[in-house]
Amino acid sequence: MPSPILLVLLLSSILGFVLCEADYYGVLGVPKDADEKQIKAAYRSLSKQYHPDKNPGDDSAQQKFIEIGAAYEVLNDPDKRAVYDRYGEEGLKNGGPGGAQGGGRGDPFDIFANFFGGAGRGGPRGGRPGKPRGGDVDTSVEIGLRDFYNGKNLDFQADLQDVCDECDGTGSADGKMHQCPVCHGGGRVVQKRQLAPGMIQQFESPCGECRGTGKKIDHECNKCHGHGVFINRRKYDFKVPPGAERNYVEVFSGESNKSPDWTAGDLRVVVHESSAGNLGYRRVGVNLYRTEVISMKESLRGGWERYIPFLDSYEQSLKLSRPVGKIVLNGDVEVIKGKGMPFPGAEDEHGDLFVKYEVIYPGGDSKLLKEIHDEL
Ligand SMILES: [Zn+2]
Ligand SMILES: [Zn+2]
Repeated sequence: MPSPILLVLLLSSILGFVLCEADYYGVLGVPKDADEKQIKAAYRSLSKQYHPDKNPGDDSAQQKFIEIGAAYEVLNDPDKRAVYDRYGEEGLKNGGPGGAQGGGRGDPFDIFANFFGGAGRGGPRGGRPGKPRGGDVDTSVEIGLRDFYNGKNLDFQADLQDVCDECDGTGSADGKMHQCPVCHGGGRVVQKRQLAPGMIQQFESPCGECRGTGKKIDHECNKCHGHGVFINRRKYDFKVPPGAERNYVEVFSGESNKSPDWTAGDLRVVVHESSAGNLGYRRVGVNLYRTEVISMKESLRGGWERYIPFLDSYEQSLKLSRPVGKIVLNGDVEVIKGKGMPFPGAEDEHGDLFVKYEVIYPGGDSKLLKEIHDEL
């Protein structure tokens, strides 16, 4: 049976925790039970509004843009969101319970140890066994089936946070930093609140004066305005290999938002298949499917040929034909070997193409009907 004092201590620490952390839901302006869609929509509209391109020279807009990005990174990731909901921002800083960074993360009491002044962890910056990993950033692009067939070189730009190279991420123009007079360098302040007569709740929160860094800067870096980070437009290119599957993911390792406080996560690009520009083909696995319409005359008499557009940039059409007298019925399927999608990773091998014939019966074309009747 734990002593009542310990229970009160734990209780108040949990309360304090939830009350004093950065409010990611508030930053995005969504309710606590917001679903993925609401979060995405809020992020899209806010990040547009505060985008540095739209607010040149506006320091507070840039800061807000960074905050919005940080909130979205957490709330859009179900695992991180669960940790945040339960343990707040501090839980995420520690890599979360069971997180991959550092040792001893699996024990939730490790968080409390850190919370109460960090037994042996030595201050908010430095002395940590390893930096936590920052969130991944996902982006997506759409290309047509023809591009999936042949492979496609893509390039794109992304506005992401970089560590300021001017001040090496310190935010200080002269490289000098002073101890914060409010928290005396600890980065955290203790607050007290009376819950009931004789029951004082004591909790820690990040210092507002120095944003939890424990340091003050006299001369802000001109480039990053003291933030140590700035939004940078980066350029990337990559190749979608021939035959790549739907929702192919290209991973740029360690290319997510960067910060002196974390090891950058990955930038991931998901390549979706657009419905436009498929030339009438659809794919299931490595096979291609297509419906081809023929007339009743062609169906019954044979003796026809036609060229249909094809996806391969070296073979842009395929010939379909039937000799005279060869009947094709409505719903017949012709399998053309080796004209499906390239196998991913083995471009010389292909799936098959399935052409399904659909016969159009003439309505009121009595001349053609009579012609066919005579022939039969
Ligand atoms: Zn700077
Ligand atoms: Zn401070």
